[in-house]
Amino acid sequence: MQLPADVRRDTAADGRVNLLGLDRRGLESFFAGLGEKPFRAVQVMKWLHQHGVDDFAAMTDLSKPLRTRLAEVACVRVPEVVLDQASADGTHKWLLRLADGNCIETVFIPEKDRGTLCVSSQVGCALDCTFCSTARQGFGRNLTADEIVGQLWLATRTLAPAPGQERAVSNVVFMGMGEPLLNFDTVLAAVDLMLDDNAYGLSKRRVTISTSGVVPAIDRLREVCDVALALSLHAPDDALRNELVPLNRKYPIADVLDACRRYVEGRHQRVTIEYVMLDGVNDTPAHARKLVRLLRDFPCKLNLIPFNPFPQTRYARSGEAAIERFRDIVTAAGLTTITRRTRGDDIDAACGQLVGRVADRSRRDQRFSLIERRIEQDRHLERERGSA
Ligand code: SAH
Repeated sequence: MQLPADVRRDTAADGRVNLLGLDRRGLESFFAGLGEKPFRAVQVMKWLHQHGVDDFAAMTDLSKPLRTRLAEVACVRVPEVVLDQASADGTHKWLLRLADGNCIETVFIPEKDRGTLCVSSQVGCALDCTFCSTARQGFGRNLTADEIVGQLWLATRTLAPAPGQERAVSNVVFMGMGEPLLNFDTVLAAVDLMLDDNAYGLSKRRVTISTSGVVPAIDRLREVCDVALALSLHAPDDALRNELVPLNRKYPIADVLDACRRYVEGRHQRVTIEYVMLDGVNDTPAHARKLVRLLRDFPCKLNLIPFNPFPQTRYARSGEAAIERFRDIVTAAGLTTITRRTRGDDIDAACGQLVGRVADRSRRDQRFSLIERRIEQDRHLERERGSA
């Protein structure tokens, strides 16, 4: 089998293949190329992902000649940790530098019964959602599979499981920078590794892909996997959504919701609908009633996200009263609704200081606090589901 293009591309300057991003089939084809049996793939996967070993010499169930050969043709390269900050509540924020100098962010938030890692799928983003700080960076490039998995590898290796927990990271959400469905094959390869029992062995309900609504990609995703799906809706009608999420002009609400419905059909799943609360823009009772009409028979949970402002944004966060009123209307109509609770300011402040030393503080600290809050809300959702 040919390696996926993104993985093939991810060879070090010296031509060695980075094994970190190869899923089982990718590794099998890599070993076939070396004239080795397919079972080597599982052996190496376990070393890399279960034991966090990045040195071939330490892979003691491989023959010495094979270990030597691997060191010649392959490598295990992870993003470089530029900054790692732990907050009082155990939240971790990493600023990671990729081989080409680009930086991405990863956030970990622990909880009693779970640990959630929020990963980035792209450098920047191409979608230009008007309320999103990442949009301002523009699009850099897609991450490679090893860069996505590398975020999980680093977190897993760095963090100790909480007492009584089997692992530090139990949940992964693709809610960092980028649109995961526009980096489809690579995100899938990364998800493959996240779910593979020989790698991270996460439950598919504990891996969530969040999308702005790339309709054909949602349908493709449905064919190949059934991880949890979140949709960034943010508006109850096309006129407003066209403004907030320009991708809506290509894939309008009805089409996006149809695709999401197809995705969960027959799967005992519900789509998480994300709705960022923008003062005076999408948060009136009329918007709430419209949203009720739109989602009344739709298999979903609604996630109300107080807008996280950033410098030069034209939007403001909805007031508490407006959010409560909105929530009351949608809840009364029977929609399962969670409102995100704001996290401690100490973390945001520390976060700003931390990232400010590197670059572009204004955007990055906002992203950090955004991601934390999103994870927080997600946990509420899961708690309510009482599942996974
Ligand atoms: N592109 C994907 C994944 C990014 S996740 C998506 O759109 O779903 C980022 C989530 O945070 C999305 O729901 C996005 O709408 C939301 N978001 C972006 N900027 C925000 C802000 N300033 N305040 C609150 N939520 C924001």
